[in-house]
Amino acid sequence: MVDIPPLRLIGYWWSLDAPEWPRPQDWVDPDWSPEERDLLALYLESGMRAPYATAGFSPCRICAMANGSLEFTDGVFLWPQGLAHYVREHSVRLPDEIVRRAQQWAEPTNWEVDMTWWKKLKAPTSADRSSL
Ligand SMILES: [Zn+2]
Repeated sequence: MVDIPPLRLIGYWWSLDAPEWPRPQDWVDPDWSPEERDLLALYLESGMRAPYATAGFSPCRICAMANGSLEFTDGVFLWPQGLAHYVREHSVRLPDEIVRRAQQWAEPTNWEVDMTWWKKLKAPTSADRSSL
């Protein structure tokens, strides 16, 4: 059996009720490349929606606007819907490991194509289907 690691939570920020999280203000990088920043924001907006409801809208810790109530995942990280807002609007720079995932998503490095598996497949017969 494959051992799947748990989703790694990112993008939760400090509040009075949760003082253990980091402050987004400390991560703001005004000199961050706009291309890299916008790509990461797009990546965060393109995640898969987590199959549960969260407690409600979370206010942005920097500008106080209502900032999303869902969570998204890419299968490795789990983040709140509003994380893209921090990145795009406030230039909150996330760790390089996360930026690299966005870059790999946007530009797969290996364009070599393996066609053998799909070519060898045979259409299932009705006997195959009835055994399912
Ligand atoms: Zn904001």
